[in-house]
Amino acid sequence: MLYLVATPIGNLGDITLRALETLRTVDFVASEDTRKTGRLLKHFEISKPQIAFHEHNEAQAGNKIMNMLADGKSVAVVSDAGTPGISDPGYTLVQLAIENKFEVTMIPGPTALAMAVVLSGLPAHSFTYRGFPPRKSGKRQNFMAVDAESPHTLIFYESPHRLKPFLEDALVVYGDRQAAFANELTKLYENVQRGTLSELIAFVEKEEPRGEYVVVIEGVK
Ligand code: SAM
Repeated sequence: MLYLVATPIGNLGDITLRALETLRTVDFVASEDTRKTGRLLKHFEISKPQIAFHEHNEAQAGNKIMNMLADGKSVAVVSDAGTPGISDPGYTLVQLAIENKFEVTMIPGPTALAMAVVLSGLPAHSFTYRGFPPRKSGKRQNFMAVDAESPHTLIFYESPHRLKPFLEDALVVYGDRQAAFANELTKLYENVQRGTLSELIAFVEKEEPRGEYVVVIEGVK
């Protein structure tokens, strides 16, 4: 059996009982970063053999995991934070498991996008998750333009040093819409800023962005 196990996005108290039970009972844990997951396992006093599964060895490690499943072993896939497969490795493994007719399930839990869209105060009944945008402005604007006419709330992941140029491009492409950014969710300095894109740009001009960000932008009304 293959389990995709969601882990906390900051606060370790957000681990679920089923995540702990699964991590305790599987034969192997496939981790995006074995050191980070090692710390998580140690915190919960779980001792388990790990194998590396990350974007640079997805194909090779994927085959290894399929062989383990064929041998009747159970494997839990864990990313650095949040839900595996959401802007993290996991998707190719689910595909492989389905192709090879192995049972696959998920232990649900935290994901930054769900918390950000709910806390943004923007409509959360219908949204488009775009993940990480391209790093260069021209490509980023083209990437954003795909949804310029969309009525759905838009969600992006962005790094702190690209937050300001991201918001500036969003203002160009979408106009001065309502938006929000969610920073350091579930952590000590959790903070959600809400306002128009130009208000958010003014905010980041005063306070240098630090930590992790999700940007949420309203759709066309
Ligand atoms: N799999 C993760 C999930 O389910 O949300 C996402 C992994 S992705 C590599 C990391 C990005 O997620 C960060 O750059 C940031 O945009 C967002 N993120 C993760 N944790 C966050 C947090 N605590 N607060 C705000 N954003 C977060």
